[in-house]
Amino acid sequence: MAIIVQKYGGTSVGSVERIQNVARRVAAEQRKGNQVVVVVSAMSSETNRLLALAAELSETPEPREMDVLLSTGEQVTIALLTIALHSEGCAARSFTGGQVHIRTDSVHSKARIQDIDALRVQADLDAGRIVVVAGFQGIDEQGNITTLGRGGSDTTAVAMAAALKADECQIFTDVDGVYTTDPRVEPKARRLQKITFEEMLEMASLGSKVLQIRAVEFAGKYNVPLRVLSSFEEGGPGTLISLEDEEMEQAKISGIAFNRDEAKLTILGVPDHPGVAHQILGPIAAVNIEVDMIVQNISEDDTTNFTFTMHRNDYKKARQVLEQIAQQLGAREVIGDQQIVKISLVGVGMRSHAGIASSMFEALAKEGINIRMISTSEIKVSVVVDEKYLELGVRTLHEAFGLAEA
Ligand code: ASP
Ligand code: MG
Repeated sequence: MAIIVQKYGGTSVGSVERIQNVARRVAAEQRKGNQVVVVVSAMSSETNRLLALAAELSETPEPREMDVLLSTGEQVTIALLTIALHSEGCAARSFTGGQVHIRTDSVHSKARIQDIDALRVQADLDAGRIVVVAGFQGIDEQGNITTLGRGGSDTTAVAMAAALKADECQIFTDVDGVYTTDPRVEPKARRLQKITFEEMLEMASLGSKVLQIRAVEFAGKYNVPLRVLSSFEEGGPGTLISLEDEEMEQAKISGIAFNRDEAKLTILGVPDHPGVAHQILGPIAAVNIEVDMIVQNISEDDTTNFTFTMHRNDYKKARQVLEQIAQQLGAREVIGDQQIVKISLVGVGMRSHAGIASSMFEALAKEGINIRMISTSEIKVSVVVDEKYLELGVRTLHEAFGLAEA
């Protein structure tokens, strides 16, 4: 008998009919002879509705009260789904995060799970019940309700699966798996059968919003096999996210991720001596701007140029700070560009295949796409290009690396 954790997101439980549909699928899973835990999100747009209500009352509502408020969305869904399961003839019980002892730290609105007491859940499973758990919420040491950050139900599901040593954690969502790239940009994008935790983290942090990043980290850490499946189409295999195997190494590239909203800043002619990089990036970090790529050129006449990228929303603020730094350091000039994007090839197979980067640059060159910056890691090569080349760049690389073929 296997233990399966299933998680259904907001759209999957967005109406009474959809909740009935979920109940049927959960019941079918149990009838296969498996023990089933179901984690659910709030009904679609409910969390946003609650956020808007609070915003009408205060610009700075207290985080503790926001967590009390937002956690109600999931509580509605667990009760409705359990009622629907009863109508399907299944024994089932619903639980809030606190009731199943999802213990977190006290950082309201982005709490981290520290511990789960799986005994209670296991006892219900052993008694033949389906256990329905509210996603996104926990309880801190003082008994305060906490929430895990937007999209946090994914993390609840993975954490439950880890605590129960489940055989698989299935994430049901509105897409039928993880794709080689965004199908809205490249219609030939293909669903991946498998991807590693590491690759998924790169894809997720680069903007493929299928799963909460923290959930993938958690799954990797505890080696919980994760499967992304469609909650609307039945029978598809979805995408399995797991540890690396030989087959995955053979494929050179798993996918192409991209970030639309990037910007870059360059400080020209800064003195080249120890401490300068810190003098530049220290004040940027102090105003909470996250820097992505960083490039420092070799020095010429004892000065150098220093470039970094950031989210476009942070560009103005970063530029202001950098102009001040430039004055202090006696730098020549600050220049910037807000019309850039980042495109990345992701694949664990890169480790054992040489020449991936040069093939990438060749393919882009053939299309006349100029590369503005390059960075690499063990399983990723990223380039910064002008915004107007995003679609062309993604499609060109998708083709060049044969990602469309099955
Ligand atoms: N309801 C929460 C949100 O909308 C958590 C989740 O859906 O995973 O972010
Ligand atoms: Mg989600």
